[in-house]
Formats: sequence, C-alpha cells, structure tokens
Amino acid sequence: MRLRLGNTHGALGAYLKGLEIREKLARADPDNNHAQRDLLVSLIHIGDLQLQLGDTQKALATYQKVVEIAEKGAHNDMTNRRAQRDLSLGYTRLGDVKSRLTDTQGALAAYRKGLEISEKLARADPEIGEAHRDLAVIYGKVGDLQLEQSNAQYALKAYQKGLEIAEKLAREDPGNSLAKRDLCVSYMRLGDAQIKLQIAELISALADARIQAAETTELIASLQQQLKSKTEMKFNGEVYYKVSESGEEEGPWCPKCYDAKGLEIRLHRVNNQQIQSNWRCRVCGEYFQ
Ligand SMILES: [Zn+2]
Repeated sequence: MRLRLGNTHGALGAYLKGLEIREKLARADPDNNHAQRDLLVSLIHIGDLQLQLGDTQKALATYQKVVEIAEKGAHNDMTNRRAQRDLSLGYTRLGDVKSRLTDTQGALAAYRKGLEISEKLARADPEIGEAHRDLAVIYGKVGDLQLEQSNAQYALKAYQKGLEIAEKLAREDPGNSLAKRDLCVSYMRLGDAQIKLQIAELISALADARIQAAETTELIASLQQQLKSKTEMKFNGEVYYKVSESGEEEGPWCPKCYDAKGLEIRLHRVNNQQIQSNWRCRVCGEYFQ
C-alpha cells in the first residue's frame, strides 16, 4: 500500500512538472485547441491522483479547472464531439469529488450537467458506443447517490435507465466482457434499490397499520362507552342506581368512585348497628345512606 501510494506521489510529481510546461504553452497560444486539450488531459490525470491520495480539496480545485477549460473548448467548437465529451467527463469528475465531500446537491447538479451533454451525444450517435456507456456510468453514480440519501425511488429510476443502456451495449457487442460486467453491476444495483424500496414501503405500511390499530382501539373504547350509557347511571341524591332496558333497578353503585374515576363499584350493605350508614364502598372505603 505504501509502495503504491509512493508511486502515486511520484506520478503526481511528474504530472505537476508536466503541467507547468503545458500551462505555459496553453497561455502562450490560447486559441490553440491542441495545447488547451493537452492541459485538460494533464489536469484530469492530476485530479485523479489527488483524489486517490485523499487530497479531496485539491482534486476539487483541479476538476473545477478541468470544467472551466472544457467549457471553453466545447463552446468554441459545438460540433466537436471530443470537446463535448471532455466537458461531460469533467462534470462527472466534479460530481465524484463533490460526492466525496458529501456535497450531495452539488454532486447531483454536476452529474445532471454531465448527463445532459452525454444524452445529446448519444442521441446524435446512431451507433451505440462511448457516449452511451458514459450515460450508463453517470446514471449509476446518480443512483448510488440517491440510494445513499435513502431516495430509493429516484435511485431505482436512475438504475433502470442505466440498465436499459447496459443491456443495449451488451446486446450490440456480445463479445465485450466489459459490457457484460457493466450489465451485471447494473442488475445488482437495481436489485439493491428494489430491496431498499420494499423495506421503505413496508416501514411506511407498518406505520399506517399502527395508526389504524390506534384508531381501532379508540373506536372500540367509544363504542363501549356508548353501550354503557344505554343502561345509564341514575343518581338518587346519595348513591347511583342503574336502570336496565327492562326497567329493573340495579345497584347501588359508589358515587365517589364513579364521579372521580368513572369506576363502577358496587356498594355493600353494612350490618353494623353502631354505624349509621347503609352502604360501604370496598374500594374507596366511603359510607353512604
Ligand atoms: Zn367508592
């Protein structure tokens, strides 16, 4: 690992030296498209190495330069497919680094610009190829980002678009193992997104079911209350009696427990001559006439 990073550092040093020369050449001849593109290619390599080394902020600055130069190139020659593709790649790289910096909105905006350009290129090219593959790659990245944000529905849409292209690419070029691998990855991503979406749907269904259960419990309680009031308590000035539908009187019931807590507690007859009361509640202990 250290050796590989050491090599990466070495490579970066070499590219930075080359960059100086290319910057001078590009500055000296700003209308020279070759010099501008050499500079752009250098910057892409440098940005990639910076990202590999974890210099994310430096990589961001580098890719921003890439986009700047590519914008000029693409603007100067709208018919130049390579210049357009450079711009799409620049935006995709910018999206990658922003995603690494957890700037999700920035990353999605950059990917969207890359998508726009690649879509135009793919439409203009009847033969399935590079532009289509670029499109599938960006759709995959957008899907990953959406899935990370728990937007499984959006992720699914992006993956489906990527899958459609990957299927076409694999069909048109059956001997291409890269296309087959891309297709396989697309299927796996789509499967992940579908599972996550199902889980999200189940969770929300469960929440709905809980609300329904709570509502049902409330409904049962209110129906029971209605049922109860059909044989309503009658207060005779001292205690409660119930009158059933057949007109029979039942009771008495403790007024203290019923009034305070809604509890229906039967009173018990007092057989003690020394006590003046007739009834006693065994729950609250109160005596009544
Ligand atoms: Zn009582």
